[in-house]
Amino acid sequence: MATAAASSSSPSSTPPDNAVPSARQIVSIGTESDSYAFTFHEEELNAILRRIPAGWKVCVVSVVGAFRTGKSFLLSWFLRYLEAHCVQRGGGGATMGSSSSGTDDGKKWYERVQTLNQHEGSFDWRGGKERNTTGMWMWSDPYFLPRPSKGDQVAVLLVDTQGMFDHETTVGLTAAIFGLSTLLSSYQIYNVDKRIQEDNMQQLALFSEYGRIAFEVEEKVATKDAAEESGDPTDATEGEERKKVSGAQQPFQRIEFLVRDWQNFDTEDETDIASMEAEMDAYLAHVTAEREATDLKATRDQITSCFEEIGCFMMTHPGFGVIKNKYEGDVSKIEPLFMRLLDRYCHRVFNTTGVDAAGNSSPTLKPKTVRGRELSAVELGTYIKSYAQMFEE
Ligand code: GDP
Ligand code: MG
Repeated sequence: MATAAASSSSPSSTPPDNAVPSARQIVSIGTESDSYAFTFHEEELNAILRRIPAGWKVCVVSVVGAFRTGKSFLLSWFLRYLEAHCVQRGGGGATMGSSSSGTDDGKKWYERVQTLNQHEGSFDWRGGKERNTTGMWMWSDPYFLPRPSKGDQVAVLLVDTQGMFDHETTVGLTAAIFGLSTLLSSYQIYNVDKRIQEDNMQQLALFSEYGRIAFEVEEKVATKDAAEESGDPTDATEGEERKKVSGAQQPFQRIEFLVRDWQNFDTEDETDIASMEAEMDAYLAHVTAEREATDLKATRDQITSCFEEIGCFMMTHPGFGVIKNKYEGDVSKIEPLFMRLLDRYCHRVFNTTGVDAAGNSSPTLKPKTVRGRELSAVELGTYIKSYAQMFEE
């Protein structure tokens, strides 16, 4: 049982590792002989997964979307939030930036950050037009958050993707990155610029179908391997439960459109985030509503058949100081409304307790499940490996 696993091991029992926390590349694109080759770095993934205590369930938050839309910038803020709110962090090394959990100076977590470093302690985010190298990155250190409903803690892993929808990455590679990140995540954030366009919906439908096909092919084999490898005695009974819940269930968990530079809030009071969230819900309902036209309907049906939950959040423009080429992370240059929305968004994404400021009653962040069954680090590793090998071929 999860509760027993939680009390019998602790993050401090993972092997000591004094490396400075950083984003590790788990997938790279391009080799000397083939600039479009997809390479999975298994040893990098294993080093991260080893930092999660045996049996603990794992949540994976991933961000996909066009290049230079602030994905890595957002993920770097997620790290600051987790530093301030997590119970413990797996792995060792230097603490990041302005970690300040435990202090009580009356300031909010983000008010204690003066500079969001571009490289150190961050997912490399940068100004300028140049794109970063294509691929997928996972943060080296898992974070542990409490899950009161089960009386345990869950591990949280963050995944960044880079180079999708630019002018150099092929559709096939974009689909592979999108597909793999959808397969491995329990919370997929789809970063879109200014509004949810029909293009975004179509891409999501296409790439999630690509992921679903991979899932259908691999699922049986991977499940068997994971049960054997983990040697967990609960696997047998959980296997029975899995059979009961399998069927027409969606293969993936949560997809959330994160609209950047939203310009159309009706709410005038910049402190009334709850009213803005109501506008976000209404917008999502409008975008996903039933359509008469066959192609529009097919796109929506495809998305709802792939994901259990669909969400939408909107962030306003961070301010013109932030988009300058020479911007180096001075937090005082960021618009206050952007920070308030970011704060609310972090609370939403990392809500493992089931209660949030907006009155939501069930957790938004859940461990990665496959056919309703929560995965441990060993099991997740086995899954990711089998999917990644598929994309390598
Ligand atoms: P990525 O390629 O999607 O990972 O983008 P980055 O996170 O590296 O950010 C690229 C640039 O966008 C940086 O100069 C950031 O300062 C800037 N940026 C970050 N967030 C936002 C946002 O919400 N809107 C806009 N317009 N720019 C942003
Ligand atoms: Mg990036």
